[in-house]
Amino acid sequence: MSKSSEWIDAVGRAIREATVALPADVERALREALTSEPSELGRLHLETLLENARVAREEGLPICQDTGTPVFFVRAGAESPWLADIEAALVEATRSATAAIPLRPSAIHPLTDRNVGNVGRGVPVIDWEIVPGREVEITYVAKGGGSENATGLLFVQPGGGAAEIARAVLAHVARVAPRACPPIVVGVGIGGTADRALVLAKRALTRRLDIHHADPAIAALERDLLEAVNGLGIGPAGLGGAATALAVHVEFAFRHPASLPVGVALQCWADRRAAVRIDASGAAEAVL
Ligand code: SF4
Repeated sequence: MSKSSEWIDAVGRAIREATVALPADVERALREALTSEPSELGRLHLETLLENARVAREEGLPICQDTGTPVFFVRAGAESPWLADIEAALVEATRSATAAIPLRPSAIHPLTDRNVGNVGRGVPVIDWEIVPGREVEITYVAKGGGSENATGLLFVQPGGGAAEIARAVLAHVARVAPRACPPIVVGVGIGGTADRALVLAKRALTRRLDIHHADPAIAALERDLLEAVNGLGIGPAGLGGAATALAVHVEFAFRHPASLPVGVALQCWADRRAAVRIDASGAAEAVL
């Protein structure tokens, strides 16, 4: 088997895994939310989501009818000898998985609505990050349309510190979370330029839910924001309750003194992701 075929198989398995089985950390977070949810309606909805996840996993069916926009986050070792061939493998894996699983054909022309399945100009979405080393780590995320529509780019008045950023993020989440299929995961990208803030917010969604940022100040902001979001009362499915978000993850970059862009990306409860690592020899393995 050629290296390219091996990667297509491995990435295809990751797409299938993400489509039919919630990651263990997401399922665990939903169970924890169930134990502390004070709203009866909220508990009922969380039980339904967990039952939905169980049936999908056992029957090999998509967790949600919206199998999402396929998005790959690639952390590419600069010294990997395989960089030139990976993008084509991701495209081919998406094409094959669309037919085999199947995925809902969800890529349409922005003007004519012509449907091209899940492969076309700019789709799958591939985000490249060049890092030191010889390994390539590929994280697949299925991005549902409802949660994508809740994305926001905020410009916060510089000088207000973490409190002002938290206030702006909370106001945005309060406005859009009910239509993002809560309980949600909130990705926040602070700083850089406007486009970079949004990329950081999206990358924040690839982190395991139970891992906080290594920077203590950023980790504290994540905890404060999670508590504040869950104090909004939006709850599961927006029907009221405590479990509005399962996690808040923040990434940051340095910024211009006059500009403080903040990207906010939401992921729905169907937080579907799976990862594959390609080592320096070209061998591919699932990342658990
Ligand atoms: S936002 Fe998520 S849970 Fe809601 S319909 Fe889309 S994929 Fe499904």
